Amino acid sequence: MILDNNDTDVPRTWKVDVCIVGAGAAGITLARDFASRRFSVLVIEAGGFIAEADSQELYRGHSTGQALSDPMACRLRFFGGTTNHWEGWCGELDTMDFARREWVPDSGWPITAEELAPYYATAAQTCEIDATSHAVTGLPAFDASRFVARGWRFSPPTRFGTRYRDSLARSNNVTVLLHANLTRIEMSDTDARVQRVLLHNYADVASSVEAAVFVLACGGLENPRLLLAATNRPEGIGNRHDLVGRYFMQHLEVQGVRILATRPGPIAAAFAQHERHRTHLTLSAEEQRRGRLLRCGFGVSDADPSSRGTRALTAIGNDLAEARWPDELGTRLHSVLTDLNGVARDSLRFLREEAHNLSLLIYGEQSPNRDSRVTLSDARDRFGLRTLVVDWRLTETDKRSIRGAVMALAAEFGRLQLGRVHIDDWLLSEDNQWPEYIWSGCHHMGTTRMATSPAHGVVNADCRVHDVENLYIAGSSVFATGGYVMPTLTITALAHRLAAHLMRILT
Ligand SMILES: Cc1cc2nc3c(=O)[nH]c(=O)nc-3n(C[C@H](O)[C@H](O)[C@H](O)COP(=O)(O)OP(=O)(O)OC[C@H]3O[C@@H](n4cnc5c(N)ncnc54)[C@H](O)[C@@H]3O)c2cc1C
Repeated sequence: MILDNNDTDVPRTWKVDVCIVGAGAAGITLARDFASRRFSVLVIEAGGFIAEADSQELYRGHSTGQALSDPMACRLRFFGGTTNHWEGWCGELDTMDFARREWVPDSGWPITAEELAPYYATAAQTCEIDATSHAVTGLPAFDASRFVARGWRFSPPTRFGTRYRDSLARSNNVTVLLHANLTRIEMSDTDARVQRVLLHNYADVASSVEAAVFVLACGGLENPRLLLAATNRPEGIGNRHDLVGRYFMQHLEVQGVRILATRPGPIAAAFAQHERHRTHLTLSAEEQRRGRLLRCGFGVSDADPSSRGTRALTAIGNDLAEARWPDELGTRLHSVLTDLNGVARDSLRFLREEAHNLSLLIYGEQSPNRDSRVTLSDARDRFGLRTLVVDWRLTETDKRSIRGAVMALAAEFGRLQLGRVHIDDWLLSEDNQWPEYIWSGCHHMGTTRMATSPAHGVVNADCRVHDVENLYIAGSSVFATGGYVMPTLTITALAHRLAAHLMRILT
């Protein structure tokens, strides 16, 4: 069932088994797993079915660190959440991502890739990605001890709100409450449990929810903000060790490397996007260990301005070749055009085979960094909650890792005589200077990180807030490290895993 909390006749007090806050990728995945089960579930969603200014405004915040995509613009605050404009790139974190890497401080998850594998399989269905593995064809003979070919898979992209709205509307045990903003988390006297949460609609009417368990699924920036701001506890909730909001990580999608390929066509083709998959390269585990590097993925694109020129010249050359020239215009014109055609074709061959630019697409991991963090400002939103300050900080290690991976690939291009790699000066310089704008993917990770001990993380391996018996977190804020692959498939897999865990403990 789906109800609108702005309506006057909806209940104002709720008592359910499970209260899920937020209906984006994580919240909707959880809710669907509970549908048709014997548990009563309430999903609280701040927005309606479409974007509305009143709701979106509540994402306002500001940035003090490395330039960040505007926290209000990059997230969407309505049913379906940010999947209403995600692009659908999917990939799985692998064994190395979950492992402790001795050269990466604070790396290592308390769960393994093997534990998550069955949930990745279910998440692939939820995100509607093609589960068949695609043979990698046409790649140059990269040294297999140093480089590994992997695949991106593409969701249509699934708009979780639109795609799963009807099934939730039909559910008898899951109620979605739209226009319901979580504004307060009330703890028991000892802080061991969440007693109830308060909600407000856009007419400022309050409601309350009691539940056996609560799950915060509001995204990687909002989960920590609510733990810090939606409470009268001065230090926030689950923040005994001052970890909530710290370790804020994003992906680093940087530009600045061009490939002057000897034969660009086959390389571009090997890395080209097919309908639902695309090949990329990453360094082997051994190569990363040797260089003490973070994770990094590479793609190749021919979306370079010079390739547009090549296509234009090809079109002209073809037109000239195919034209029929009447005898009466004379043999002279014919020979001039034939010469022109030849020049065009020579230029084309030169552009294609001698000096063609390809762009390297770089997907870099950011190291876990305690000083990169989300905090609260003194400004307040319409419900009195302090607004967000994002202090995103990159380190020399982050830059050194991208540089190291690019240098390794450049050497490999040289060894195989595939061409020359041109690296921009900013990336070559051994400092912590970055271009003014870095595309972070809006992948907000790490701010309620997962760790076995409360001294190292906000949630435990079950995604439960340490020291709080009935409060769980879903979403990329629990990532201990982010790897270089896009997060939503992992968010979805973790949500399926959390649903299975909650059903076990509630039974
Ligand atoms: C332009 C763009 C492209 C992207 N492309 C990709 C991609 O190709 N691949 C990929 O893996 N990822 C991509 N992402 C990231 C992806 O969108 C997110 O990883 C994903 O949506 C996060 O899911 P979530 O459920 O954790 O949060 P969200 O989807 O953001 O959902 C959070 C929900 O919580 C609700 N909410 C917030 N506060 C409250 C409150 N106080 N009370 C009640 N409800 C609340 C919101 O309204 C929202 O519905 C992209 C992101 C952007 C911006």
